[in-house]
Amino acid sequence: PPAVSGRPTRIVVDLDHLALNLRNIRAHVGVPVMAIVKANAYGHGLVPVARHLQAQGVEQLGVAFVEEGIALRQAGVTTPILVLGGIFGPQVAQYIAHDLEITVSSLDKLRQAEAAAQAMGRKAIVHLKIDTGMERIGVHSYSSAAFIEAAVASSWCTVKGVYSHLACSDDPASPMTLQQVERFHEACAHFERIGAPMPLRHLANSGGVLHFPETWLDMVRPGIVLYGVLPDPASKRTIDVRPAMSLASQVVYFKVVRAGHTVSYGATWTADHDTRVVTVPIGYGDGFPRSLSSRGEVLIRGHRYPIVGRVCMDQFMVDIGGDSAWNEDEVVLVGKQGDEAISAEEVARLAGTIPYEILVGLNDRIPREYR
Ligand code: PLP
Repeated sequence: PPAVSGRPTRIVVDLDHLALNLRNIRAHVGVPVMAIVKANAYGHGLVPVARHLQAQGVEQLGVAFVEEGIALRQAGVTTPILVLGGIFGPQVAQYIAHDLEITVSSLDKLRQAEAAAQAMGRKAIVHLKIDTGMERIGVHSYSSAAFIEAAVASSWCTVKGVYSHLACSDDPASPMTLQQVERFHEACAHFERIGAPMPLRHLANSGGVLHFPETWLDMVRPGIVLYGVLPDPASKRTIDVRPAMSLASQVVYFKVVRAGHTVSYGATWTADHDTRVVTVPIGYGDGFPRSLSSRGEVLIRGHRYPIVGRVCMDQFMVDIGGDSAWNEDEVVLVGKQGDEAISAEEVARLAGTIPYEILVGLNDRIPREYR
């Protein structure tokens, strides 16, 4: 049953598309998948998405913060979960208490994980983060030998994985990715040099999965492509993935705006002839970007129409010209209607941002339905 209040604005998540995307990604790379479900599963809903992926047999889940991992454990998700973000000292015990795998990104943080594990009498499961060019978190590949040795020697940490993050893989033409792969292999070679077993090596985000077989290694970490959206306009659709999310609302008001009259805050849009304008009950308070003011488009009765005037906190207006629309007509903001479709990629381009920000920005004020 739809968990909705009756709000005419809603996100519909197609769980079959999510499962299909996972299957097709797996078939493409031929290695296990760590599904990235941080930031409310890219706006699709953390717990329902993680549960569905678990039911599909996904090998591992990845979140950004320990709180996201705890929410999954409290919802009964039992799949291994890696917290990708750097640990914050005072929170370390919580990782161990909730059986969450820890990213250790420096010698200091390794010591923090060890101390917490020892205090709790329970080993910490860690993945070592190597920096190969992102310069975000991680030990530089060129000086990671001592870090790797310390982790391998630790009696309170089990080194399950070693990983790095790609900065430019969304662009298949960027030379940066293969350079990062080379640096990663140089760092990993140290495990062999000291006779330690090689942990699970993982490197590929969506761009890596789509464009660079050299990055697939022992496991891949797709986020956005799992939801059926490409990371960048330069990305290639090398895998059959379908958008899991659609965003729709309904017309709640209809009127005629006379020639010369303006629409919305700032009076930035003026009707140059008498025209029909409808009001749609979603705005930047829901995470629908204000930058789509007089730029975005929506679908009503299978036709595209422009958003006119500024997007407000809870509403915006659409010029339907001489056409007809009625209260309660469906308005599609992302997704298909009739023969027309609006993708998250298109919305992002018009809003001057990346599709990640569009998906993740849609907040909990919008009810989500799962089909
Ligand atoms: N791995 C790490 C460490 C990340 O931070 C992210 C997200 O930014 C991902 C994987 C997934 O990235 P994408 O959504 O581009 O596949």
